[in-house]
Amino acid sequence: MGAGPGDPELLTRKAVARLRAADLVLYDALVDVRVLDFARRAQRFFVGKRAGRHAISQTGIEALMIRAARKGRRVVRLKGGDPFVFGRGGEEALALRAAGVPFDVVPGVTSAVAAPALAGIPVTHRGLASAFLVVSGHDEAAFASAIGQLQPNRVTVVVLMGVGRAASLAALLVERGWARGTPAAMVFAASTPRQQAWYGRLGDLSSDTLAAVVAGGDDPGTLIIGDVVTIAARIGVSDAGASDTEEAPAAMRNEERYVGR
Ligand code: SAH
Repeated sequence: MGAGPGDPELLTRKAVARLRAADLVLYDALVDVRVLDFARRAQRFFVGKRAGRHAISQTGIEALMIRAARKGRRVVRLKGGDPFVFGRGGEEALALRAAGVPFDVVPGVTSAVAAPALAGIPVTHRGLASAFLVVSGHDEAAFASAIGQLQPNRVTVVVLMGVGRAASLAALLVERGWARGTPAAMVFAASTPRQQAWYGRLGDLSSDTLAAVVAGGDDPGTLIIGDVVTIAARIGVSDAGASDTEEAPAAMRNEERYVGR
């Protein structure tokens, strides 16, 4: 089941119903605590990653689900966003299938779309981007191969798990012919009270200022690259990207660009 990006109001009605009926909830690190409040009568287990270490292995999680289900317990396996978007939901569904445990998949609002949306950025926009790529920034080689086939500056690139590597990912894009002036944004803790967004240019992503800002917290962040980022300013969510100059204006490089909600 997908828990969405954080705000409990972004849960589906099906997710809420299932949480209320659950006996056991196995949840990941990015699941907002407010979402767990719906599962009042359930036993709740954290099975995610904390400080880089897994509380329990992937096979351990699968075994736990299977064992509980075989005892007749109603199990919810809760993931941030959508379970099938970098959530290992497919692997777990395959394990359940192999074990003969009946289950269904409850999709969630993925941060790949919700984080940009909440920062005023449509991932597609007529005339600006007719497609978007959702890619992990975790592995640079995989990232390079995913962007390798793209025509530079034609598609919106949404990077999950990439904040810590933003500088090298940006460098890879520039190497592949993307303009340094391409609008870019980072949205942190989308849909939570801590939501913050930074708006700038691809070329700024390597700047020390940004590195300092990003190092500030361990909130999850989504990186968006493409002309669609300029829409945020036009619809009034931010004043970002209002300039058409190739080089980012000075103001874009200081912390004023890091705007709270
Ligand atoms: N299944 C999840 C993605 C898991 S990968 C989904 O569909 O949303 C984890 C990455 O998701 C994080 O590194 C970050 O890039 C992004 N992410 C998750 N929650 C977020 C949030 N509230 N705000 C911004 N990005 C978020």
